[in-house]
Formats: sequence, C-alpha cells, structure tokens
Amino acid sequence: MKLNDRGLLIVISGPSGVGKGTVRKALFDMKNHNLEYSVSVTTRAPRVGEVDGKDYYFVNRAAFEEMIRQDRFLEYAEFVGSYYGTPKDKVEEMLDKGKEVVLEIEVDGALQVRERMKDAVFIFLVPPSKKALYERLSRRGTDTPEIVNKRFQKAESEFKLAYKYDYIVVNDDVNNAADRIMAIIRAEHARTQRT
Ligand code: 5GP
Repeated sequence: MKLNDRGLLIVISGPSGVGKGTVRKALFDMKNHNLEYSVSVTTRAPRVGEVDGKDYYFVNRAAFEEMIRQDRFLEYAEFVGSYYGTPKDKVEEMLDKGKEVVLEIEVDGALQVRERMKDAVFIFLVPPSKKALYERLSRRGTDTPEIVNKRFQKAESEFKLAYKYDYIVVNDDVNNAADRIMAIIRAEHARTQRT
C-alpha cells in the first residue's frame, strides 16, 4: 500500500568533470524504475550531438529572462556566462503523476530547490580524489589549461557546499555510483512513505 502518491524529487549535483551525465545515463538504463529526467532550459549554445527538447531547451537570453519574469522556474542560476533553469510546471506535473523526477543541476540552483521543496532528496557526486578530477578535466582535451584550471577552482568551491546535501556518492565506477543512487532512492521511498 502506498501512503504517499506524489513522486520523489531527486536533485543530483557535482563538479564539472565528475561524470554526472554518465552516471545519470547508467541510472536511467537500470531496470524497473519510474524515473523521469527534467529537461532544463538554457541560454548556452548546443554542443555537437545535443538535441533541443531532449538534452536542453535552448533559448536566447530574452526568452529566458521573460520566463524569469513570469515565475516559470523552480530554480535558475547563471553558470560560466549562461543561464540554466528548471521549468516549474513540468516538474510539478510529473510529481503529481507519481514520477520520480531527477534534476541534474549545479549547486546554487540545488540550494534554491532545498528552500522550496522540503521533501526532495539531495545527492552530491564526488570524484575518488581531487587528483582524479583534475586528470579527468585535463583529459577531455577540449579545454585550454586556463579553462581546466577555472573549472577545477569552481569544483573546489562547490566541494565546500557538499555538506548541505543529504548524501555524498563517490563516482569511482559509473555502475557502482548508479547502484548507490538507486539504493538511496529506494531508502528515501521507505522513509517518506512512498514504498
Ligand atoms: P553544461 O553546460 O555542462 O551542460 O552544464 C553546466 C552546469 O549546469 C552543470 O553543472 C549542470 O548540472 C548545470 N545545470 C544544468 N541544468 C541546470 C538547471 O536547470 N539549473 C541549474 N541551476 N543548473 C543546471
């Protein structure tokens, strides 16, 4: 018997280069889940292979700012010169349908959600070590050493806010990390009477 029919909101953050996207993919590839990914709105340009409406809703700054004025975001933040935000209506609609909604967002936005959605669960993904993160950021090969250093410094400041999250998950191995997140989701179901 289910005592709480509303879906659980799951917020996943972690520094650039930690492998959030890959872990999310492994999580969604698992069997028997009821997870839905909340597609964010952004003003950043699409990367090669990214699909509008699947990876992000790509909009210009004027359109994003209009959405801010209309109070259409659950949270939004500026990250390295672009806006990113979570559309409120869609999240509410999915939660009302009993879906488990996953947000993959940076720390400022996650802290806004913390204020607004009291029973959401907050997970912070960390690398096995700072050295491993630095190596990963450098290995991508697409960024200049300056950008790599900038992202690494940003990661250092994000680690300081990790204590505000409910759970820390180490991404030592993608499937292990996804398994741990699924275990957290199951435990949170029981804790919040959603089992
Ligand atoms: P990227 O440009 O690499 O896709 O994303 C940059 C950062 O923005 C990542 O940390 C990503 O998790 C975060 N992000 C993506 N969507 C949102 C969103 O809707 N809100 C916030 N606050 N951050 C987001």
